[in-house]
Amino acid sequence: MNLVDQINEIKTKISGKLLFDENLSRYSWFNLGGPAKVIFKPKNVNELSFFLKSIANNNNVKVLGAGSNTLIRDGGFNGIIIKLGKSFSHLSLINKNMIIAGASALDKNVSSFAVDNSLSGLEFLSCIPGSIGGGIRMNSGCYENDISKILVSVQVMDLNGKMKIIYVQDIKFSYRSCDLDRSLIFISATFKGNKDNFDKIKKKTDDLIERKKKDQPSKIKTCGSTFKNPKNNKAWSLIKSSGCAGMKVGEAYISDKHCNFFVNKKMLNQKSLKI
Ligand SMILES: Cc1cc2nc3c(=O)[nH]c(=O)nc-3n(C[C@H](O)[C@H](O)[C@H](O)COP(=O)(O)OP(=O)(O)OC[C@H]3O[C@@H](n4cnc5c(N)ncnc54)[C@H](O)[C@@H]3O)c2cc1C
Repeated sequence: MNLVDQINEIKTKISGKLLFDENLSRYSWFNLGGPAKVIFKPKNVNELSFFLKSIANNNNVKVLGAGSNTLIRDGGFNGIIIKLGKSFSHLSLINKNMIIAGASALDKNVSSFAVDNSLSGLEFLSCIPGSIGGGIRMNSGCYENDISKILVSVQVMDLNGKMKIIYVQDIKFSYRSCDLDRSLIFISATFKGNKDNFDKIKKKTDDLIERKKKDQPSKIKTCGSTFKNPKNNKAWSLIKSSGCAGMKVGEAYISDKHCNFFVNKKMLNQKSLKI
């Protein structure tokens, strides 16, 4: 049975969104990419589990977060894209210094929630445009901090729809990477912060946001830094010294302001654009 027939068989038991041959360009910061065979936005965890149990076998399944670190090919994706929606973006405080965040919660919202609860340590999340799920996969970070330093545990679902909790001590994190199995879907995560003075945390957060605005271009179609930094060097600096700042190939453009930022130049004519 093909994928669409398999889905038609269980469709009536699903109230989340199912989209067929939907263009993925709307789901990525680059605004690029062809269609996905199926996009599934589950209504809740139980529905995701049911869907995976019924469908995942032998099908190609990928999760997309906020799409701020994903370049999608023009040919699209011949499989199922799982997109976690609002019901996976919950935020709550436990034990006074820990935050549980749904995997689709945006990093900046988790940071704001930490500020509101006078918790320090999560300020850097205000500078990363992705979601918690993408942040864990990428071990995202900036300004001497990253996800591995604040994570306590992550709740995951496997392709058989089974949930488990993985603790940070059992995950090997490295620079913009982690060894969690690529097939796992992150459902939520627990982070720890330190109780501190509200004004101090707020100021640090605002300062980081300002610093980021100065250092990096904004309001462009990009996925941020394209290349990882090699040891003892900066990718942007190597690109600059090779004379590639401002280079254009077709619709692709290398930002002058931060030459590790590759840009979808189609958007350059828009008024709000600042490079
Ligand atoms: C302007 C700009 C600035 C940026 N600055 C920084 C920066 O300072 N530091 C930094 O580290 N990054 C930065 N990035 C890159 C990007 O924001 C981060 O990597 C971010 O964490 C990606 O999150 P996302 O939700 O957008 O992930 P996506 O791009 O949607 O996905 C990235 C990866 O995570 C996986 N994934 C997403 N959600 C889940 C889930 N629930 N379960 C399992 N896997 C999942 C995807 O399958 C994919 O492999 C920047 C990007 C932009 C556009």
